Amino acid sequence: MVGSIQLSQSSDKDFVDKDFVHKNYAEKAVLGVHAFTTGRGFQHKEHRNGSYLPQLWWVLTSRSWVGLPISVFLIEHKDGLVLFDTGINPGIVHEPRYISQAIGRFLLKRIFRFEIGRDETLERVLETRGFDAKCVSKAIISHLHFDHIGGIADIPQAELLVSEAEWVQLSAPHPEREWVLREHIELPDARWCPIKFERAENPLFDAFGGAHDVMGDGSLIILPTPGHTPGSMSLLIRSSIAPPILLIGDLAYSAEAILQDRVPGTGNAKQLRRTYSKVRDMKAQIPELLIVPSHDDTAITALNTILKERYDDA
Ligand SMILES: [Zn+2]
Repeated sequence: MVGSIQLSQSSDKDFVDKDFVHKNYAEKAVLGVHAFTTGRGFQHKEHRNGSYLPQLWWVLTSRSWVGLPISVFLIEHKDGLVLFDTGINPGIVHEPRYISQAIGRFLLKRIFRFEIGRDETLERVLETRGFDAKCVSKAIISHLHFDHIGGIADIPQAELLVSEAEWVQLSAPHPEREWVLREHIELPDARWCPIKFERAENPLFDAFGGAHDVMGDGSLIILPTPGHTPGSMSLLIRSSIAPPILLIGDLAYSAEAILQDRVPGTGNAKQLRRTYSKVRDMKAQIPELLIVPSHDDTAITALNTILKERYDDA
């Protein structure tokens, strides 16, 4: 159903070598990486940067809003198109009952604001950049929050890879209280594939407690990075077109926050700190590593600049 694991080819020192990036098995596997947005959102400063105030207090009283992109990443792999997350659905703004529970609609207005056009669907966003949603073969879902699963109806043919730890949240009582909206996840056509992480002999991956090799060629490696949600995961992209890229979803709202060990006002702070430390270790081993959160304009601009330079050089 998903790629086999071939992660055991590195010795202890391999990952600090240039080979870590340009290993033969990864070379020419990734042909392109693209960042898109399915609209923009706003969150409170306390949500983004953390706060000493209790969460309910800032949710109800904060008047400060910070703008952010709602990102989707597309990887052109030689064996098919792979998405990292599917963005937000315009229905959240344009359909009054997109969130079925009144308490959810009440809290949503206090926690988030959105600027999303009616036509900013995943399908249209891909189309405007010259890609056909029907050609997406896999989508890696970093976690199940509504602003990451909003496009799954546009890609019924795609395998939707999610961690088992994230998937079990659906069977917990009231997952919608954690912004996991079952009615938009359990679609009849959706091809969800909960994945298990397997032991990786490469110590860089093993430090995360396992890995999953998406295409079986070492180019796209999923790593468990819990904290924002229990089953959040990140994607390491190794290619010959860019330095290694670590797409981290909502593990942090800015790459800087991880380097400075600043946790946001949401998620499990202890777990976040543990994961931040692993990501910092990876960055120390691979200084050129690009850490790209889903809601960080600065990191996404840096990614686009590097990709453009590399393409221009090619
Ligand atoms: Zn989230």
